[in-house]
Amino acid sequence: MSRTLHHVIIGGSAAGVAAAFSMRASGFEGRITIVDAGTDEPYERPPLSKTFEDLGTPRPIVPSESYVDHGIDLVLGVRATVLDEQRHRVRLDNGEDLFADAVLLATGVSPRRLGIAGEDLGNVLGLRDIHDARAMSDRLDAGGHLVIIGGGFIGLEAAAVARRRGLDVTVVEAMPMPLIGVLGTGLAAIIMQRMHTSEGVRILTGRTAMEFRGGPEVEEVLLDDGTRLEAATVLVGCGVAPNDRLAREAGVHTDAGIVTDDHGRTSNRWIWAAGDVANYVSPYTGRRQRIEHWDVAQRHGTAVGANMAGLQVINTETPYFWSDQYGKRLQMYGRAEAGDRLVMRSTPSGDGFLAFWLRGDRLVASAGIDQPKELRATKPLIENRVPVRAAQLADPAVSLRRLGRTRV
Ligand SMILES: Cc1cc2nc3c(=O)[nH]c(=O)nc-3n(C[C@H](O)[C@H](O)[C@H](O)COP(=O)(O)OP(=O)(O)OC[C@H]3O[C@@H](n4cnc5c(N)ncnc54)[C@H](O)[C@@H]3O)c2cc1C
Repeated sequence: MSRTLHHVIIGGSAAGVAAAFSMRASGFEGRITIVDAGTDEPYERPPLSKTFEDLGTPRPIVPSESYVDHGIDLVLGVRATVLDEQRHRVRLDNGEDLFADAVLLATGVSPRRLGIAGEDLGNVLGLRDIHDARAMSDRLDAGGHLVIIGGGFIGLEAAAVARRRGLDVTVVEAMPMPLIGVLGTGLAAIIMQRMHTSEGVRILTGRTAMEFRGGPEVEEVLLDDGTRLEAATVLVGCGVAPNDRLAREAGVHTDAGIVTDDHGRTSNRWIWAAGDVANYVSPYTGRRQRIEHWDVAQRHGTAVGANMAGLQVINTETPYFWSDQYGKRLQMYGRAEAGDRLVMRSTPSGDGFLAFWLRGDRLVASAGIDQPKELRATKPLIENRVPVRAAQLADPAVSLRRLGRTRV
């Protein structure tokens, strides 16, 4: 009689949950267990930084009954602590061991700590999970000066909400502009000016935090140029570190994340990895990287889950993310790089815009504010490597949809 196989997924979020359902959809008939350190059923993280309201019950990734319907066991509030490859066991911090025929690490990332004095003072917050979001929500209610260290998407989304609630907000950014690494100078400047400076956010660039002062709660932030900022709340959003400890301790090859092949296999054939924690060659850019977007983590999890069920799938989808700020939605497809040519197209209403990045005559990335349909039309242009001219992209009279169908 054949034994029932058991796949254990560590991390129940975008990648882990997608992998579990994909495994089932791909014909895996064995046991599937998702282990997550959090106590809530798997929920969506993106809403956590968008409004800081309605945080009582986080928005579930799938309804509760779906896990039961698909025979997926959820083990919540439990952390996996050791991967014992010899015995094919996952040790849990509740004292149990789970036998696993295969393990998927979908452990995501954790906010990077700055390693400066005062980081543990009260009201110095990070933002990764529902508890962080609730703490931030309380601080928004309390009011006072909010200092945000790091002008990434999460920090800027929080800045937008705080401004709309009337708080004084200062963003401290080490680079010459927030979001410059993702959007490049041209578009980052537009976002900074049109969205944040015009809304009254004070942005201090080229500076970093040296110390948080006060006690027991933060009262002041000292910057590297000697500037002192009075602060009722500090939000630190300075990037993330991959949760790859389990892999490292199991001797799996890691390098700024868990290194995998195209199918999600690590250097240990028992262990797979997916989502933000995985470092893989993106079929899109051709380069090894970790991508930290919800949609990408779900698609990657879906592909790796199918592979664990015995299929051979590679996620070739163009990377996509969105960010909501001041009631506007910024969306981006693809990846822009230094040296790509930025082309802008204004929209008839004048509120939104579309941005395109050209490498030679290929569109490699596109972004837009409140232009979902138009932007979606650029996806096939990117994926099918359709040759385009800058003048066409810049001209609002040229249909992007039609451009995808006609060769120039
Ligand atoms: C506030 C916020 C807003 C965001 N907004 C957007 C957005 O607007 N658009 C966008 O594209 N992306 C957004 N993102 C990014 C997106 O949420 C991530 O890309 C996505 O969550 C990655 O999913 P993941 O499954 O790889 O990892 P994660 O979501 O990080 O989940 C990893 C899970 O693993 C668990 N875990 C880790 N170690 C262990 C262990 N040893 N044992 C058990 N469990 C463990 C953790 O508890 C966690 O639940 C946002 C992220 C945050 C935090």
